[in-house]
Amino acid sequence: MQDYDLVVVGSANADLVVGVERRPGAGQTVLGSDLAVHPGGKGANQAVAAARLGARTALLARIGDDAHGRMLLDVQRRAGVDTAGVLVGGAPTGVALIVVDPSGDNSIVVSPGANARLGPGDVRAAGAMLRAARVVSLQLEIPLESVAETVRTAAAVDTRVVLNPSPPAPLPDDVLAACDPLVVNEHEAKALLAGDPASDDDSPEAWAEALLARGPRSVVVTLGAAGALVARADGGAGTVTVPSPAVRAVDTTGAGDAFTGALAWRLGAGDDLETAVRFAVRVGAAAVKRTGAQQSFPTLDELEDR
Ligand code: ATP
Repeated sequence: MQDYDLVVVGSANADLVVGVERRPGAGQTVLGSDLAVHPGGKGANQAVAAARLGARTALLARIGDDAHGRMLLDVQRRAGVDTAGVLVGGAPTGVALIVVDPSGDNSIVVSPGANARLGPGDVRAAGAMLRAARVVSLQLEIPLESVAETVRTAAAVDTRVVLNPSPPAPLPDDVLAACDPLVVNEHEAKALLAGDPASDDDSPEAWAEALLARGPRSVVVTLGAAGALVARADGGAGTVTVPSPAVRAVDTTGAGDAFTGALAWRLGAGDDLETAVRFAVRVGAAAVKRTGAQQSFPTLDELEDR
């Protein structure tokens, strides 16, 4: 078994996108543009982001035995991701059905499909791969029990855990305690802090401190064009805000996944958290300069050229 800088455990989706003049209401039918099919899913996005940068990356995911699944596998392989851990079957490949109007507003239906069938047993069967990873990166588009099983396997061998709780959901204490870091955007921070006075605050520092009190070893709050904020439980020195390079943003889809994939890789490569975040904001900024998600993610050469 080879060593991996990063094993991503998460979702893989086909994003099916149609442009419309007006999004349909109940009972309405509207005509739309030609269908565009893009590779997506937070797990698949993070794996591609890291592999394009040169990380030795593997993806543990589940796809359907169908054309969307084959397309996703092909994209992962071409990016350089080890797909030995991508399981096939059990349900159709997950899809996101997206209609976008001319103002850019969209309506989205997600069918998790095979993502919802990536079970704790699948995680246990991939134990050797997880133990060969320096970092394991997770999101919440697969069953929470599978996230928890991954965290337990990683914690048992001291593999570092990076978690982006998206879509936000309450997390078990042992999962929270393993996160180093928990990576959230504003929306996720406020959702996790629902009911806590800090969620009414408009200060990312306050969110980070309140999230740290829940047990993770560190917290990173992404702030869009403003960069990211880093807070460590053992930090002492408070929080650090890392600015993002100023770029002309064309499409922010997937910026958070590019950021987190890059961050997880650099942590696996031995950077300290602040250094890894300084690298990740450059990758996030590069990803917003081009349209789409995975196709917007930079290679290391592209990043250094800018
Ligand atoms: P998304 O949901 O669009 O994928 P997100 O909300 O999870 O993104 P953001 O905080 O918007 O995450 O962006 C992640 C990172 O990408 C930021 O920390 C920053 O480095 C970079 N980024 C995002 N938007 C911009 C921007 N307009 N200009 C420069 N950098 C950006």
